[in-house]
Order: sequence, then C-alpha cells, then structure tokens
Amino acid sequence: MPGSPQDPRRRVPRTDTVLADPAVGAAVARLGRARVRAEVTAVQQRVREGVLAPDRVAAVVVAGLPPGPASSRPVLNATGAVLHTNLGRAALSPAAIAAVVDAAGATDVEYDLGTGGRARRGRGTLAALRTAVPGAGDVLVVNNGAAALLLAVTALCTRPRREVVWSRGELVEIGDGFRLPDLVATGGARIREVGTTNRTTVADVASAVSRRTGCVLRVHPSNFRVRGFTAGPDLRELAAALPPDVPLVVDTGSGLLAPDPLLPDEPDVSSALAAGADLVTASGDKLLGGPQAGLVFGRADLIERVRRHPMARAVRVDKLTLAALEATVAGPVPPTTRALHVDPGELRQRCAAVAGRLRETGVDAGVVPSAGVVGGGGAPGLELPGWAVSLPVGLARPLRTGDPPVVGRVAGNRLLLDLRAVEPAADPTLARAVLSASSVSGG
Ligand SMILES: *Cc1c(COP(=O)(O)O)cnc(C)c1O
Repeated sequence: MPGSPQDPRRRVPRTDTVLADPAVGAAVARLGRARVRAEVTAVQQRVREGVLAPDRVAAVVVAGLPPGPASSRPVLNATGAVLHTNLGRAALSPAAIAAVVDAAGATDVEYDLGTGGRARRGRGTLAALRTAVPGAGDVLVVNNGAAALLLAVTALCTRPRREVVWSRGELVEIGDGFRLPDLVATGGARIREVGTTNRTTVADVASAVSRRTGCVLRVHPSNFRVRGFTAGPDLRELAAALPPDVPLVVDTGSGLLAPDPLLPDEPDVSSALAAGADLVTASGDKLLGGPQAGLVFGRADLIERVRRHPMARAVRVDKLTLAALEATVAGPVPPTTRALHVDPGELRQRCAAVAGRLRETGVDAGVVPSAGVVGGGGAPGLELPGWAVSLPVGLARPLRTGDPPVVGRVAGNRLLLDLRAVEPAADPTLARAVLSASSVSGG
C-alpha cells in the first residue's frame, strides 16, 4: 500500500550503503565511481517505482555493469572464420599482448635512452619488418590498410595533381559501403580507369601511361572472384612494360609477407616486390595476425616521399600498435597462423573431447565436419577442412549472452562450434560455457 511502512518505495537503500557492498566496490575499482553511481541511481529508481525489491539493488547494479574494464568483452570465436571482422579480426599472440602492456605507460617509442635525444619512431618495429621482408628498401607503418593505400597514392599523385592508372576489374568495395576508388579520390589523385570489369591487359595499362601519370595501381580483388572469360595483367610483365619513372603500387590487402602454400591465390609482399612493384601496401590485422595497422614496403626514396607527405601525420600509428606489430612479426607464431594451419585430425580430437564431456552431462552434442574460412573478406571460396561440435540450435543465444560469450555458426537446426579459431587452452572454458548455457535454456 503506498505510503505504508511496508511500501518498498520507502525502503530504497541509501547510495552509500549500496556502494559499500563488496561486489559493487569491486565494480567501482574497475569502472570508476561516477559510472557505478549512475547505475545505482537508475536501480534505486526502479525500487521507487515498486518494480524491484529493495534487497536486490546491489545484485542488479552489478549485473547491469560490464564485467571487464570496458564494455567490449573477450569472446570465444567458434565461428570457424579465422579473421572475423565483427569479432575484431586477428587475435593477438600472448607476446603481442605483453608488448602492448609494456608500451602502455611512458616508453622509448621515439626516444634514444643512450643519447637522451629523439630517435626514429618505432625503429624496432621497422627493423623487424625489414628483416621479415629483405626485398624491401624501407617500410612505413600507418593506421590501417586503407590509410596505407590512400597515403601512398596521394603522395605519388598530388602536388602537382596526377593520374593513378587503375584497372576497372580492381575498383573494389572493401565492405560496409566503403569503396577504394572513392577513398583514393579523396586524397586528390585523378583516377584513370583502364580495361574492363573482366579483362585488362598489360597493353591497356601501358597505353594509358603518359606525362600525367603519378603511379600505376594494382589492387588485389580480395573479397570476390570473377570467373569465366577473365584476364588481368601478370605483375612481372606489367612492371617490365612501365617506364622506369612510373612507380607501380600494389595493394595486397592480405598482409602475407611471404607466400603461403595453403593460400595459393593470396598475393604476398615479398613476391610483389620481387616481381617489380615499387611500393606494396598491406593490412596488419589480416593474415599477418597482428594489430590493426597499414604497412607500406618498397623503394627507400618513395617510402621517404610517402613518409614526408603531410597526410602521413594524420594516419600515424600509436605506440601500442607498434609494440604489438613488432612482437607479431619477430615473435612466436600468432594465433591467426596457428588457426589457419591447424591439423584437421587435431581439431577432430579436440571436438571429440569437448563433445564427450558434454554428453556425460546429458547435453545433445556431436562431432561433425566443418569447413573453416579465412574470413575478413580474404580468400573467398577457400574452404579449410576441419571439425565442429554440433549442439541444439537453441543454445546459440544463451551461449552468446553467457560469460564468456561464445559465438558459433548456425547450420540448419544445429549450432556448430568450430574450434579452429579457439585457442586449445580455452577448450575447457568453452565446454563450461556450454554446460551453463544448457542449464539456462533447460536443455
Ligand atoms: C582489407 C583490404 C584493404 C583495407 O585494409 P584495412 O586494414 O581493413 O584498412 C584494402 N585493400 C585490400 C585489397 C584489402 O583486402
């Protein structure tokens, strides 16, 4: 009854009392007082409205706050896509994570501890990349692959304004509505399209080159395939057909530094340079398996020109990225490489172990073949043979919203948990997550 002593609205716990609860106190240490206080105020209001019992306030406050220091949460990627763009692309290696933590405070990223003076920013990372790609005269690191492409072409095709010669078969949309020709045009280069959607020859490109040309661009059509009556210029022949003063820029996208027999259609930086490319751009968080970054490799004089362009400062990479990139390139094999090359027999054994443990507790779990993919728009059409744990499809949502969240793949009326991109050490965690999801869903 409103106004009576039993009315829950009159028994709203005081803010200080709620903040004194140990679990709420832990949230304050993690998230800061202001954030938690705002949540307390919101929950107190629900008591006032009579929709929540007063003794539930602390628990509801804790449940409404993120369990980690930020609202983004670590997720188990059981989709079978090694580079899932919506799940943050490449997972960093433990070494790269440690490097990020070390770099987080004050660091000598641009400082020489011997002389006490300024040093070249990220020189250790640049040295590691030069060692990994001996054919490159120099290297530059920027914020992402799109920035690497934009900066390289802009530096070569503006001041004065010049043309970038570009095949119509390579005018690519990379995702989320972003189109590379629109991106490149924003830098000021004038696009000179050559060839057709399905066929472009060396002669098409060579005959378009003139005094107005700033560079010739070759973009790897990384996320689609054109089949049938198709042809693109061979890179070596293209390089040989161009006048020596016209730079050839190649956007590989993938981030492979050297060829990988598993991915025969993916271009790599070393091969592109060997074939005669003057500058080669790539992503850091695709097949390289590192942090989001863009790499530009190639002729030292051209790299210097790109590095000196005013736009370079606007796409500069931060110290955390430089640290993670160096540990990825020079350190232990990153999770991306492991997940791509994992032995299918090993995947099958891991799936059988997880499914066996689940069946013991009455969960309807099986083991089925599952084709993994590179993901992140890379290597379209390539299927990586593997295995998955098969579960009732009703577990998909409780698993996604559990702790830790597990994201699988729905196939028909089954939920598949493909272990390819899951670290083997996380298998027991994944099994526990399935058990608690089954108890939630009553399955
Ligand atoms: C992915 C990709 C890009 C963009 O790289 P980001 O690192 O995502 O910015 C550019 N070009 C090609 C060919 C790509 O595959």
